[in-house]
Amino acid sequence: AKHTGKNQVRFYDDELEQSERLRQKLEQELADAVLRQEFTLYFQPQTDKTGKQITKAEVLLRWLHPQKGIMTPRDFVPHLEEYGLIIPVGNWILEESCRHLKKWQEAGNNELCLSINVSANQFNHPDFLEFVEQCLRIHNIDGHKLEFELTEGIAIADVPATINKMNTLKNLGIRIALDDFGTGYSSLSYLKHLPISTLKIDRSFVQGLPHDGYDAAIVETTMVMAHHLGLTVVAEGVENRIQLNFLKKLNCHLYQGYLFHKPMAEEEFSKLIL
Ligand code: C2E
Ligand code: CA
Ligand code: CA
Ligand code: CA
Repeated sequence: AKHTGKNQVRFYDDELEQSERLRQKLEQELADAVLRQEFTLYFQPQTDKTGKQITKAEVLLRWLHPQKGIMTPRDFVPHLEEYGLIIPVGNWILEESCRHLKKWQEAGNNELCLSINVSANQFNHPDFLEFVEQCLRIHNIDGHKLEFELTEGIAIADVPATINKMNTLKNLGIRIALDDFGTGYSSLSYLKHLPISTLKIDRSFVQGLPHDGYDAAIVETTMVMAHHLGLTVVAEGVENRIQLNFLKKLNCHLYQGYLFHKPMAEEEFSKLIL
């Protein structure tokens, strides 16, 4: 028995060692990816109910991995967070978004707004506001053309500081969207206390429409409340006409999902909006 026990320990040791090696490899790969600029931005339109009018798009990060091809953020964004790389990458996303926006404006589209995912660590970084201001200045972008998508993860350890930060962004014209609305525990208290202008109904609720009574109730209630509070609602993950029709009846403002458009690379998106 003693012997087996020892082997067990040994086995776990090897496993730990191996997972530590894999972790270090991934960390190195991601650090290299930052240096070699292997990231790119995709854009997914948020349209009106006809799917034709595109006034806004969500910016979505992709990693063009030299061996594995296009990687989706679920597989690497958590690791960017873990290794502190989300700050440089997040800054790059903001700059690159402004650069694209300027280019499209110069090509004749002055309507388009971009909605950018900002991670909690990025938002809470002491230099974040300064970086945003500098970015708008350098690229000559009006803040009204940007929206930041934040999740409840922005932790509300310091509510007054968060409110201050959001108000500074608001004064620059930048709107705040609460992403994945309804998936956390404190969505409603967020609405009460923070200067939020947009709600993004999470795909997990849209998915069950209209047959799942629970999803339907959540979406309906959210929509009614948002109208009362004067908030813009974006439905995420709209994949079919049945979902669309349900949301249309509730006067949802904007629609994002595969039914109308998948996220697309810059060239394809440019063709669509120019
Ligand atoms: P999210 O912010 O909730 O983004 C929406 C996700 O839903 C995107 O996945 C989008 O491609 C996907 N989606 C949109 N419509 C549909 C649909 O009709 N059906 C289905 N099945 N999916 C749909 P994506 O691009 O893989 O991004 C996943 C998550 O990674 C995002 O979730 C966000 O949390 C994070 N992420 C993406 N880009 C960035 C970024 O630039 N910065 C940060 N910090 N996080 C990002
Ligand atoms: Ca988002
Ligand atoms: Ca979302
Ligand atoms: Ca989501």
